[in-house]
Amino acid sequence: MSKKLITLFVSGMLLLSLGLAGCGGQQKNAALRVGTEPSFAPFEFQDEKSKDFVGFDMDLIRAIAKQMGTEVQVQSMGFDALIPALEAKSIDAVISGMTINEERAKKVKFSKPYYKSGLAIIVKNDNKTINSFKDLEGKNIAVQIGTSGAEEAKKIKDAKTREFNTPPEAFMELKAGGVDAVINDKPVNDYFIKQAGGQDTKQVGEPLTSEDYGIAVAGSNAELAAKIDKALDELKKNGEYDKIYEKWFGPAKK
Ligand code: GLN
Repeated sequence: MSKKLITLFVSGMLLLSLGLAGCGGQQKNAALRVGTEPSFAPFEFQDEKSKDFVGFDMDLIRAIAKQMGTEVQVQSMGFDALIPALEAKSIDAVISGMTINEERAKKVKFSKPYYKSGLAIIVKNDNKTINSFKDLEGKNIAVQIGTSGAEEAKKIKDAKTREFNTPPEAFMELKAGGVDAVINDKPVNDYFIKQAGGQDTKQVGEPLTSEDYGIAVAGSNAELAAKIDKALDELKKNGEYDKIYEKWFGPAKK
């Protein structure tokens, strides 16, 4: 083959592959960049073997994205870094067991509520003195930084609160006897006690709060919030939401 022919052939292949790559890119919308703090099982955590991000929130956001004709690209970060990342536009949405509240709603726009949660107190099995919120006065408490649990702990008289980056670190401190109690979201405590090493701990008292989780987007991105709400509605109607719920929490109480 002459040099000229080879050059022609090679550049032809190159053009073809560029063309194909271009087509692929055009068919799909850009992936939804989703921020999460993945130590919040069963909502978001890393599968030990596959290292994939799994959980109720992860399944839900992937189903929402699919409904919107796109895919999810998960970015892991500290809980207190999620809203700043939205504001800096380095992510498009947050799903992270995040409670909808007024303070946050000043900075970001929330989707409709997608899960009903609330805070609860968790102590060691052998603790006989803490049975309610009132009993936390003057005690040592562990919470996750930047959370509604951390806010709740601030209301307790004379309590010494220590803030940890993740709930598992707060739980570890409780097991080690470094604190008397942890205040954290009840479904996450439930999962810890049953399936993640917390057999020597228990929850006490009534749930402290009732909180709704929402998906957050930048305050200026009303269009994305509306698309997420529409997808959520569709998933509730077509039974997909219930399927995901039952996978992680068992049959829904109706
Ligand atoms: N629901 C709590 C909050 O929004 C905790 C969330 C979390 O730790 N991922 O503050």
